[in-house]
Amino acid sequence: MSLIFDIKKYSINDGPGIRLTVFFKGCPLNCIWCHNPEGISPKKEKMHNRNKCIKCKSCVGHCPNSALAMEYDEIITDANLCVGCGQCTEACPTGALEISGAELSVDYIMKEIKKESFVFDQSEGGVTFCGGEPLMHRSLLMELLDKCGELRIHRAVDTSLYATESLVREIAQNCELILADMKHMDPAMHKKYTGESNELILSNIRMLANEGFTFTPRIPLIEGINADEQNITAAARFLASLPGFEERTVELLPYHNVAKGKHEKLYTNYNPDNIPMDKPSPETIARCIAIFDSYGIEATSR
Ligand code: SF4
Ligand code: SF4
Repeated sequence: MSLIFDIKKYSINDGPGIRLTVFFKGCPLNCIWCHNPEGISPKKEKMHNRNKCIKCKSCVGHCPNSALAMEYDEIITDANLCVGCGQCTEACPTGALEISGAELSVDYIMKEIKKESFVFDQSEGGVTFCGGEPLMHRSLLMELLDKCGELRIHRAVDTSLYATESLVREIAQNCELILADMKHMDPAMHKKYTGESNELILSNIRMLANEGFTFTPRIPLIEGINADEQNITAAARFLASLPGFEERTVELLPYHNVAKGKHEKLYTNYNPDNIPMDKPSPETIARCIAIFDSYGIEATSR
């Protein structure tokens, strides 16, 4: 069952124009810097906002699985017992609990998309499917791409490209733009920071270029992880080796420490190994842009 964990209106960073972004839940990677940690697990997850909690224990009494308890003045959840049914959220008087992930029908999602038609027309925008990893949800994704295609709505898919070549090709054939994440050029570093190596991803990028698909490489730029000269030079050299590189713009997405609060709500650990990660400075961003420029590639940063 495919779950959606968010639908955001008025996005201006996920493709051309103003966009509606649909977030699929579940990802084959586990990047330590992930801005959307609630998108990693494909299952429903309960999120608890401690700042809103008045410790009334109403949720504890309403959980049919005895997954909740109050210990040391804190609500704790037994993840093995919680099935994400959401009954506790209904019992909470302050909105401190929410469930991330919902089974939304194609009709419901299309209704949300169609509501934005005017905005899409005025801004030359469209819909972007991201996650998590939308390619983990082939059936729902393809149905939505087909329906948007029938309505001539611009379709972008933001993907890690950690998927089979045939699936990437099928999705690329059914959308106007692939937003292709490039996290690290070194296979060992990629595995260390995301849990998987990068060979499949780079091979899929090469396939997209060789077969003439429209794609935008995107690099989450993180000081201490991948913003060094060696990695950016390797990325520029790789992209410059692909056909059509001179028409392609690389997007640098500076890291922000926005995930910490979400990890607290999920009761998961943010950066458990304390790997140094920082927002890149303006100087670092300028240096990265200059490296791409030296290879004849335009790079932009938000
Ligand atoms: S989501 Fe359901 S199972 Fe999980 S803690 Fe809440 S009531 Fe219990
Ligand atoms: S019901 Fe809500 S406010 Fe009350 S203890 Fe549970 S999470 Fe906190």
